[in-house]
Amino acid sequence: MSESGITTQPSCADSFEVGALPVAEAREKIQSSIAPVAGFEKVALRAALGRVLAEDVISTIDVPSHTNSAMDGYALAGSELPVDRVTALRVVGTAWAGKPCDVAPGPGECVRIMTGAKMPAGTDTVVMQEQVERDGDAARIGTGHRSGQNVREAGEDLAAGAVAVHAGKKLAPAELGLLASLGIPEVKVTRRLRAAFFSTGDELRSVGETLKEGDIYDSNRYTLYGMLGRLGVDVLDMGVVPDTRDALRQAFHDAARNADVVITTGGVSVGEADFIKETLAELGEVSFWKIAIKPGRPLAFGKVLDAVFFGLPGNPVAVMVTFYAFVQPALRHMMGEDHFHPARPRIAAGSRVKKKPGRTEYVRGYLHTDENGKLVVEKTGFQGSGILSSMSRANCFMVLPPDCAGIEAGEPVEVELFEGLV
Ligand code: AMP
Ligand code: MG
Repeated sequence: MSESGITTQPSCADSFEVGALPVAEAREKIQSSIAPVAGFEKVALRAALGRVLAEDVISTIDVPSHTNSAMDGYALAGSELPVDRVTALRVVGTAWAGKPCDVAPGPGECVRIMTGAKMPAGTDTVVMQEQVERDGDAARIGTGHRSGQNVREAGEDLAAGAVAVHAGKKLAPAELGLLASLGIPEVKVTRRLRAAFFSTGDELRSVGETLKEGDIYDSNRYTLYGMLGRLGVDVLDMGVVPDTRDALRQAFHDAARNADVVITTGGVSVGEADFIKETLAELGEVSFWKIAIKPGRPLAFGKVLDAVFFGLPGNPVAVMVTFYAFVQPALRHMMGEDHFHPARPRIAAGSRVKKKPGRTEYVRGYLHTDENGKLVVEKTGFQGSGILSSMSRANCFMVLPPDCAGIEAGEPVEVELFEGLV
């Protein structure tokens, strides 16, 4: 349908979805009109998991702090390594992790050493114990070793004075460990975001209520709770708001006053949205977009009072797709996160995927290894925008770009995984 309400038949790729905003453009418009929130807090290291670092952390020490052995074995000077035949060296001491050996081995001597132990003075090489024959205080070592082997240099992980973790990094388990290795007990992170959300629609009942004829349960508030929770955003669930002017005005007021971001689902498609549009025009500045995306065409974005506003479509899968495509990158930017570019590996499609050119399609996919051991991605059945079960069966989206006119079996397709290691 064009704006005038006249249905036009798509004749070529460019004429499809006339007037619809490309996904990338919508994302840019959103990203350029929001800013990272001011405000930070100091939190204990463990509590920083999933939070965004507010300032660079500079390493105050070398990690490791001393040159140490990477193996259990024998420490010696590289110049003592046998050249052409097995040679016996005298073992003159033992170095343990945390208990260094004060004896500096001289010519023809070595020190028994454990993994992590400080290298004794005069040594720079470790021969692993499996390659040494021990006979009393003699260690018989063969040829083929390299001077400097099996040693970890002081500062080789982090050097004193270098940036250990950059501001804008979302802290994962590796960073918690890294910061702990510097002896840092607390870090400065950006403050938590708060998102308020509610559903609109007279057909919606909340979990625990009884369904009357024509009613459905509100599932969007639960997917939103899950997606926001995983992002580390504090949520304010405001329930189902009746489609009346007063109720909506009150709800938008309360939401915007108590949160950084307000998210609603439903009621933004053309023909609906009368009270929502009216209320939003009164309280803020919101654009109603038709986006070249499937599912999830209608989207409202702007401001309500001082809060950022997203009006997502009502259909449950459209809610999830538009959240991941637009809301998630926006919230990550607001939380101060830098460089958020989800990996999009290209995987062979297991079977044909039909598509019309002109819009970006997020197809629910199941990435798996087929019976021939080949990695393939398969559509998870019926793709209706209300079919949440096909979302639940999926473990990724196949993201088909606007110019794509379908994928044949075996052709590569970009995939966005639902789960990551961190
Ligand atoms: P709307 O955008 O309000 O026209 O809604 C589109 C479709 O999504 C309708 O079938 C609604 O019943 C459904 N829908 C809207 N909101 C929700 C919700 N919170 N939970 C489940 N389905 C919803
Ligand atoms: Mg509705």
